[in-house]
Amino acid sequence: MRAVVFEQYQTSPSLTDVEKPAPGPGEVLLKVAGAGACHSDVAVYREFQEGQPGAQRPAFVLGHENSGWVESVGEGVTGFTVGDAYLVYGPVGCGHCRYCSKGQDTYCENTATNPYAGIGLGRDGGMAEYVVVPARNLVPLGDADPIAAAPLSDAALTPYHAIKNALPNLAGGGKYALVVGLGGLGQIAVQILTALTGATVIATDTKEDAMARAAERGAITVPSGPDQVARIREITGGTGVDAAFDFVGVTPTIQTAQASMAVGGRFTVVGIAGGTTEWNFFSTPYESTITNTYWGTIEDLHDVVAMYRAGQIEPDIERFALADALEAYRKLEAGELSGRAVVVPTL
Ligand code: NAD
Ligand code: ZN
Repeated sequence: MRAVVFEQYQTSPSLTDVEKPAPGPGEVLLKVAGAGACHSDVAVYREFQEGQPGAQRPAFVLGHENSGWVESVGEGVTGFTVGDAYLVYGPVGCGHCRYCSKGQDTYCENTATNPYAGIGLGRDGGMAEYVVVPARNLVPLGDADPIAAAPLSDAALTPYHAIKNALPNLAGGGKYALVVGLGGLGQIAVQILTALTGATVIATDTKEDAMARAAERGAITVPSGPDQVARIREITGGTGVDAAFDFVGVTPTIQTAQASMAVGGRFTVVGIAGGTTEWNFFSTPYESTITNTYWGTIEDLHDVVAMYRAGQIEPDIERFALADALEAYRKLEAGELSGRAVVVPTL
């Protein structure tokens, strides 16, 4: 079958032929409906080097944001019907530690000895006609469109988890949330904030069209520039934002969000672009927090699917045939996409 394979660090992936996989014990073979192209894939194949935190050793099929239809099941798997649509929870931990036992494989205590981090992250992913996944990682989609749903498993799950952790900061009236970076994750973050909180959402991106889409979703947009922090503070009446989410993660975006926080605010860095910042006693408002989050839990993914089915999350997608998958990644790197690129092998 055709597949997009990450073959070598700091090199673009290849579109090539690999053997069609077979499900092992406890696994399910899916016919891929959609595989989203995430900016983290760019870090995987373009930026990381052997041994760096986050690096996944090649070679493997890319695609950690997948949906598909059950094609067949491996030994011991019951309760699945051929043809039913599922979303894939990508992280794969040891399955039995404190974190995995609550469906939070992202923070598995045994990562040092796990053979891979997830589906499409060290183990073959969904940028192919078929993908094998552990049965435990499947979340049912029912009659919801599985192709448009593919981005939910990362571009929605990741902001959902970050926002859920910040809900105490946004509870009550008159709260403000800041979203920096309005790409795949950021656009969905605006939708999740709107659905889950009454906060006023302030959003920014370097791209006009990305800000326009966030504005259509009810956000107040603030362009980049030297007076950006002052403008954000002005919108909040001077107090600053109660929760900030950075879906870029370069030094300027981290520093902008840090400088925009309110007393007791929570700033979550989600983007993994490697930016840094300085902290001292006087650099941030009292009792404000800077933290990070990585992906989400299986339970979170069930919540995300429920929000999708309720019409609260609608990913903007651009469909690409498998033959055009490398073009999808090129456009992602060049900032030319206006929605999440979803590779659709059945196109
Ligand atoms: P994307 O390419 O779809 O979107 C990035 C957006 O940021 C684009 O709209 C771009 O115009 C904007 N941007 C770039 N530089 C900017 C700047 N200086 N100021 C304002 N906006 C800027 O990327 P994505 O797939 O949404 O991923 C976003 C980030 O989140 C990436 O770093 C990715 O690796 C990371 N990520 C993290 C996790 C996690 O679990 N922590 C999960 C998935 C993705
Ligand atoms: Zn574990």
